[in-house]
Amino acid sequence: MAKKYLSKAKYWGPGGLSLTPTDRVIFREDIDWFLPKRIFDVHTHVNLGVTGAVPKVSLGLLKQFQKLIFPKRSCNNLFFAMPPRNGQTSDQVNQYISQQVRKFPEKSDARLFFVDPGMPAEFVREQVLQTQAVGLKVYMTGATAKNKAEAPIRSFLPEKHIKVMNELGLMIMLHLSKSKAISDPGNIRDLEVLSKRYPNSKWVLAHCARCFRPGLFEKVVDRLNALPNVYVETSAVCDPLVFMEVFKNYDLSRLMFGSDNLVAAGFRGRYIECGLFWLSIGQPGFQWGQGMFAGQPTFVIYEQLRAMSRAAGLVSLSEEDIHKIFWDNAVALIKSIRQTRK
Ligand SMILES: [Zn+2]
Repeated sequence: MAKKYLSKAKYWGPGGLSLTPTDRVIFREDIDWFLPKRIFDVHTHVNLGVTGAVPKVSLGLLKQFQKLIFPKRSCNNLFFAMPPRNGQTSDQVNQYISQQVRKFPEKSDARLFFVDPGMPAEFVREQVLQTQAVGLKVYMTGATAKNKAEAPIRSFLPEKHIKVMNELGLMIMLHLSKSKAISDPGNIRDLEVLSKRYPNSKWVLAHCARCFRPGLFEKVVDRLNALPNVYVETSAVCDPLVFMEVFKNYDLSRLMFGSDNLVAAGFRGRYIECGLFWLSIGQPGFQWGQGMFAGQPTFVIYEQLRAMSRAAGLVSLSEEDIHKIFWDNAVALIKSIRQTRK
């Protein structure tokens, strides 16, 4: 069969954005039985490119890729910008999203506004209302703390912004900092304090509360279950043991599917545990080997989905729960946000 490349950028790795025989086997054996017909992906990016580093991803390319990798499924999205890089500004990355939304309007999709901590609260309120965003995306690169890798939540998400989200009943998509992620005593305590102090705000913890490796999520799962306005999404986690911890013990009415497509999950590779940290393999420059050692990698998103399906099989996750994770929970949350704002 002729290969259909959606993008020939080297960034994506061997096979690019097309389906290889390896991809087809993995989809058929590990994903097809598990993936519902309707998908709502709460973590996708539309982004400007950085020459020589990151390809530009339009909403059109994102949707074409989803058609390719999720055959016979529909997929709606919550999308937002990538953090600005190489001299880009937050205004530019947000404007690109607005432009793409005008080009491909779809009622069931939703967007977030990318915010940095220096923005005045009034500006954030105006922008969120004007762009119809359902909330904010924040990221540690904007942290005021010197060591961004260990930045506390308030260092990149000031309380003045949380107050606005609380008043409007909107969402905060939070990619936590700190090596112990949600199990860091400071992070879990701050989340408890802030989510209780602002009960009308909705918190979504990206990447299984940034638990890319096992042993972290289970430490705080009971405390997370006790926070009714805190949710968790699954993007880019490729470890079945993490999903076992989540599926077994987390409140599944607050778990939502996210992928991190396209730039962070459309390349070929995997996020793996290594020592006491985690890393991605397969990003540009990675050597997959040659001859008899030649690797045939698949997309990160396929690694994530098969990790989820394997864990689901092992804990006997019900079909009803699978549907909730891939559709019902996200749709209900976004609907409730939109209704409150009317
Ligand atoms: Zn992301």
